Amino acid sequence: MEKGMRSQNAHCLVLPFPTQGHINPMLQFSKRLQHKEIKVTLAITRFIFKTTKHQLSGSVTVETISDGYDEGGRAQAESREAYLDRLHQVGEQTLTNLVEKLRDIGQPVDCIVYDAFLPWALDVAKRFGLVGAAFLTQSCAVDNIYYHVYNQILKLPVTGPKVLVPGLPPLEPLDLPSFVYDFESHPPLYKLVMNQFSNIDKADWVLCNTFYELEKEVVDWMAKLWRLRTIGPTIPSIYLDKRIQDDKAYGLTMFKPSNDDCIKWLDEKPDGSVVYVSFGSLAELGIEQMEELAWGLRGSNKYFLWVVRASEEAKLPKDFVEETSKKGLVVSWCPQMEVLSHKAMGCFVTHCGWNSTLEALSLGVPMVAIPQWTDQTTNAKYVTDVWGMGLKAKRDEKGIVRGSEVEHCIREVTGRERGKEIKMNAIKWREMAKESVDEGGSSDRNIDDFAANLVNS
Ligand code: UDP
Repeated sequence: MEKGMRSQNAHCLVLPFPTQGHINPMLQFSKRLQHKEIKVTLAITRFIFKTTKHQLSGSVTVETISDGYDEGGRAQAESREAYLDRLHQVGEQTLTNLVEKLRDIGQPVDCIVYDAFLPWALDVAKRFGLVGAAFLTQSCAVDNIYYHVYNQILKLPVTGPKVLVPGLPPLEPLDLPSFVYDFESHPPLYKLVMNQFSNIDKADWVLCNTFYELEKEVVDWMAKLWRLRTIGPTIPSIYLDKRIQDDKAYGLTMFKPSNDDCIKWLDEKPDGSVVYVSFGSLAELGIEQMEELAWGLRGSNKYFLWVVRASEEAKLPKDFVEETSKKGLVVSWCPQMEVLSHKAMGCFVTHCGWNSTLEALSLGVPMVAIPQWTDQTTNAKYVTDVWGMGLKAKRDEKGIVRGSEVEHCIREVTGRERGKEIKMNAIKWREMAKESVDEGGSSDRNIDDFAANLVNS
């Protein structure tokens, strides 16, 4: 047995917020816990359970709660606000039922690891006398900004030219998350990110999907507030330490990937020649932005693999797919880790969602950041100015990243000067990411610590 393990299994119930970008990291963390001989039950909504393909090798058990929309999930709700309210009401009740059910069938839960977007789950844990661990799915830098806003240490509206937050480099207002610099833009989402901190002081643990070496200063600062542990990057083990057998993919996708098409297509391309483009599972681009991106990709004259979700497809310029079919492949979803780690990969044009950012850092893929909203703006700042892994594309006065700028950034990150510097950083981050989760690394030790305490609590 590895260090930090015990003979008698503790049981964790892991509860992610029901979107792809939250399920992936919490599922991966579940696999790591399982590897430390903690029994894990992953709770997803009935709608996601019914409509996704799960290929969960190993023994992470899946159970369901309800968000109140079992037939349609988020799409069934009349508004985002209505969805979040009902998720709270019905989610809290059905989570309670699930904890009772597991107790009644002789599999009592010891701890609830809950997505910090669902702070009511901590109330459920406390009602049953269980250990409650908040899981922060975004970067620590972003978490710290929200913490400062929530506690009104950072007052809104923010004013420039520089915003100072402990543990972070000086930021311009537009480097902050969009829910902070434009705090009236999405009130229900503003509430969602802020409420992460409403009861966090009562959590027994605060787990963060990052690794210590990546965000040292801010982690040190936040670790003074709570029993905080960095446990990432939460990407399949095969891409890092390879210690978890069969952990080759996330294993639960809400979209249907065009696997064979993508990989076959990449196999035929020269090493390092492909631009991969994806804006994740949620971002919606304006038509003009979509067109500019299309012209930029065409103008770069490089091979490109572009993920355009089915709901975004109608925004593609007419005939673009046919006209560029010699150079490009447009798919509705792909196995992103396989794509990013492919030898044909040249650079990643990305929204800088936190998972995508961690994935590219861990695999060493240069990024062209075109952040859209939420935490992506802050991630893009770090990618460019702190981690030296890419370039943030500039917007014009209308807020659009023009095709010429897309072309310019692609050339820069894959070119001789900036490209060389990025390559050096890429090797450094790739090694550090791997070391952090490998035996004795910073995240590995933190997971050991968490697991050992569960056993003894
Ligand atoms: N992803 C994928 N295939 C795609 C696009 C994205 O598997 O075609 C995965 C990606 O690897 C990442 C997640 O979806 O783990 C997206 O999370 P992220 O935080 O980057 O963005 P979000 O979707 O939350 O905005």
